[in-house]
Amino acid sequence: MIGFSDWQPMMPLLKLLAGFASLLAIVYAFHWIAIFVHELGHVCAGLLVGFDLVEVRIGDGPRLCTFRAGTTHWHIFAVPWGGWVVGFPKNSDYYRIRQVIFIMGGPLASIVLAVVVFALSFPGALGFEHGPEMNPVTWLLTFLAVFEVFWTLWPRKHRLYGGEVSSDGLLLWQIRSGPKPAEVIAGGLQWRAVQALSIGHKEEAISLVRQMIEVPNLANRFPHELVLADVLSEAGNHAEAEEIYRRLLGAVQEDDRRFVDLVDSLGSMALYHELPHLYPESEALLRRAIARWPEAKTLNGTLGGILVEQNRDEEGRILIEQLYRLRTNSTDLGICATYLSVLAARAGNDAEVAKYRDEARAYLPKHRLVDRLIGAEALKK
Ligand SMILES: [Zn+2]
Repeated sequence: MIGFSDWQPMMPLLKLLAGFASLLAIVYAFHWIAIFVHELGHVCAGLLVGFDLVEVRIGDGPRLCTFRAGTTHWHIFAVPWGGWVVGFPKNSDYYRIRQVIFIMGGPLASIVLAVVVFALSFPGALGFEHGPEMNPVTWLLTFLAVFEVFWTLWPRKHRLYGGEVSSDGLLLWQIRSGPKPAEVIAGGLQWRAVQALSIGHKEEAISLVRQMIEVPNLANRFPHELVLADVLSEAGNHAEAEEIYRRLLGAVQEDDRRFVDLVDSLGSMALYHELPHLYPESEALLRRAIARWPEAKTLNGTLGGILVEQNRDEEGRILIEQLYRLRTNSTDLGICATYLSVLAARAGNDAEVAKYRDEARAYLPKHRLVDRLIGAEALKK
């Protein structure tokens, strides 16, 4: 039996642990405040210069909540580390100076927070007479607030949301060499179109991509026209998308890398939306693209799918298994797993059907092709 007296020698250690835990809690809470203040600084600056704010993210890691305020999508995550505000100008007036204000809004808000924490932590400083006594906690908070300012202004790239993001300092540094205003405005419209599609607002998405290709002074219209066709295809306007893909295919040589993107887009539209009239043409184009661009491995998956759709199972299986073994990215893996599940079903191998179906759903939780072939939609048929 353990009596109270046995615990006595442990008390200093327990107190130390409790102190450490409460310090961690304070740092965690403070970091939330620091990130909120910083990102709200960008939001206010963006509104001040008339930017279209499309997305605000606060924190990283597991998603806590998502909501839409006006046309801005907000995402709050559980780990108070990092955040971003994505905003775009709607016109090119005073473009650079507005960009500078938008980028500086965050660091300026962090500086204001650091000054406030400093004033509250050191009574008498900056004319504030009342405040808590100086103690390790106020020292720490002051240090964190000042650190936050340097951290955002230090020009560097850091990992965030599964990719690389430029710090505010780096964005400022690159502002002269960055993309031209027309490209940035078009990029903003594209971002909003993709976002509208993701919540099922198809008409809004189409209207946004149509505005996108009308932006004056676009240096290179090709990528934007390809996006227009992709969005039309996703929204179900296949005939118009097909027309644009064909027009772009007519304007591009086979040794141009854009040929690969076009062929893949056309083939994917045929697969995702089940358009058999495109299968023979897509197959021919994909074979030409693969011969010219053997390193574009994704094409093997698209061609394999086209073959399986035409019941040429063994030809298709070879290509799909090849791409599947390379484990290039989650989209390729999800598409391969989907077709491997279809092939297993045709062969009557139930264990493999289940295995690949689960894998496909894990790699592509919300995907048109997965839904059509093995998802809830397919099971209803
Ligand atoms: Zn920032």
